[in-house]
Amino acid sequence: MTSKIQIHHDADVMVITVNNPPINAGSTEVRKGLLDAIHLFQSDPNLAAAVIIGGGSTFIAGSDIKEFSQPLAEPHLPSVIAAIEDCPKVVVCALHGAALGGGFELALGCDARIALEGAVVGLPEVTLGIIPGAGGSQRLPRLIGIEKSIELICGGIRIKAAEALKLGIIDKLVAEDLLGNAIAYARSLIGKKSRIRDLVAPQAEAESVLVASQKALKLAKNRPNVHQAIQMITNTMSMPIDLGLATEREVFQKLRVGTEAKALRYQFFAERKLFKALGGKESKPKDFQSIAVIGAGTMGSGIAMACLSAGYSVLMLDQNEAALQNGIKKIRDFYDARVAGGKLAADKAAALLKRFTFSTQWADIAVADLVIEAVFEDMQVKHAVFEQIDANANPQALLASNTSYLDIDAIAAKTQNPSRVFGLHFFSPAQVMKLIEIVRCQATDPSAIAAGLQFAKRLGKTPVISANAFGFIGNRIYAAYRRQCEFMLEEGAYPEQIDQALEEYGFAMGPFAVADMSGLDIAWAMRKSLAATRNPDHRYVSIPDTLCLAGRFGRKTGSGYYQYLPGTKSGVVDPVVKSVIDEASAAKGITRRAFTSQEIVQRVLLAMMNEIAHLASEKVVGDVTDCDIALVNGYGFPRWCGGPVFIAHEMGKEKLSAELETLAKVSGPGFVKAELSGLFESDGSE
Ligand code: NAD
Repeated sequence: MTSKIQIHHDADVMVITVNNPPINAGSTEVRKGLLDAIHLFQSDPNLAAAVIIGGGSTFIAGSDIKEFSQPLAEPHLPSVIAAIEDCPKVVVCALHGAALGGGFELALGCDARIALEGAVVGLPEVTLGIIPGAGGSQRLPRLIGIEKSIELICGGIRIKAAEALKLGIIDKLVAEDLLGNAIAYARSLIGKKSRIRDLVAPQAEAESVLVASQKALKLAKNRPNVHQAIQMITNTMSMPIDLGLATEREVFQKLRVGTEAKALRYQFFAERKLFKALGGKESKPKDFQSIAVIGAGTMGSGIAMACLSAGYSVLMLDQNEAALQNGIKKIRDFYDARVAGGKLAADKAAALLKRFTFSTQWADIAVADLVIEAVFEDMQVKHAVFEQIDANANPQALLASNTSYLDIDAIAAKTQNPSRVFGLHFFSPAQVMKLIEIVRCQATDPSAIAAGLQFAKRLGKTPVISANAFGFIGNRIYAAYRRQCEFMLEEGAYPEQIDQALEEYGFAMGPFAVADMSGLDIAWAMRKSLAATRNPDHRYVSIPDTLCLAGRFGRKTGSGYYQYLPGTKSGVVDPVVKSVIDEASAAKGITRRAFTSQEIVQRVLLAMMNEIAHLASEKVVGDVTDCDIALVNGYGFPRWCGGPVFIAHEMGKEKLSAELETLAKVSGPGFVKAELSGLFESDGSE
């Protein structure tokens, strides 16, 4: 027995308790202890049944992912499950909290499952780039059929206990006294061994399997591990279970050590570390009740929705009555659509909207303990608005700006107490996008940053902390990325080729499709405002300016880098753009050349790595792994590729340095190769 497993006897029933706080992760010690316990149980003639239960607040909420980077130590989970199945006496699993991944596979290896209301079960392995490795893909289909298994396993879906009961995944649901009920249940099953492995092989129509598979693959972005998961599930129709189990294990082991799984584990740990700062604090950060959002435009209304959905009271203020009404309508329409779509109960929507108020009067913001400004991106307007906020907000309230690029220190300087001012940079649409940049200014009190982190957590968002610098973290990296793509336009590539290469790599959208969607005029206005200070010797690509001068602002004007036919969202290639690009190359005397997709992706990644190294040297970002988190959660970077920092570490400093030398040469004046040490300081290690 190990310290992670305790046993006691209740007459003829052995109770095996897993104690590996905080989530009872299925570690080597847990597996060893379980195996020992099962052997003891089997050999004791006074015992007729056993119950496996989790100590604390949960059953086994998953395997210990930290172990996944090394060769797994014996005993492996399949051996533990085999011992349970081979034991002639009944073993019942008692589930509360979460029984996920290996925890749920263990439960599927038992003869019956009883759960406490509120429990969830599921096999989320695909989200970590792997597949279930201890029989999940072989036993679940024998219980609930092929199509449902494809949906649940390939979607990594968590199934609530009531639904699990309906599906037959669990056998009994109780409202209280899980252990007492589990012991009684186990006793009632004495002599009735009932293994999932002995059920008849599931069958399904080829057509319905195809439909379920296509749906799952689309949702899972066609990842190779999901293809494998489908293969394993469909194997159950014809393959004997032992061969199916061995095949599943082999595939699991291969995927586990692959780059995608490594990248996804890296992301998992990098995100988990974000909130660690909160846990270590002696005093709890300030919790907000009431939020005032200033500005009812695109961002203001989105931020208001994010806050309302998280349970806050929200006051939305706009100086312009028509803009305010527009924002209110947007918010009401959003919740109406959720009710109509069955995603939100009507009474919950009504209760939520009771927490929503709006105004054009500054005095009304006095109720708020956090004020978030989202007005026009103009320093004079921001100054005027912060003077009003300062004069009308509760003196204890924290004040945040959602500016994309402006200097928040300069904004804070207009207030009496700059220590309560910081940045909360949301991404559009704010009610959907996961990323928030929390911007720490010169005078910001650390408690304001801690409160911002906690706020982001309650919104269900992923925060990264940035210093107050132009473009913060994400937009700085994105600008370098876009610039590099524009260089490639001049050198010989076309927008559709660059977009396609990056989308095939895994980006949600290519940069030119994104530019057309957000509007080319916004970046144009920014370039014009910076024109006076731009170094004339630096390489400057004029293609976007030429498109803007022709009134091509993207989707909203029917043309940009692409042409948009009425009623369509995706653009088509436009010969006019091709000539603009060809002329731009000719004007600079550049002989256009062919690009491969691989070269396009490589240049983009290198440009991002270089910019991240600059951000690290300038101390804009504390831990460079935050840059990967920002790109994945706010910029459509493929999670399974880890992020530029992850890739840089795989590449090594020397190789990266050499590649950046080459990139600096092809990019020309203005591209500064960064000092790389900051990029290699944090490795987000597991
Ligand atoms: P928007 O034009 O849609 O909305 C701005 C709103 O502010 C308007 O409703 C306007 O009436 C109101 N407003 C202007 N002056 C005001 C004043 N003095 N008092 C009260 N209300 C006033 O703009 P947006 O796209 O929502 O952007 C708002 C801010 O968010 C900007 O700083 C922008 O840079 C930033 N931002 C925008 C995005 C985006 O994708 N749109 C993303 C992140 C951050």
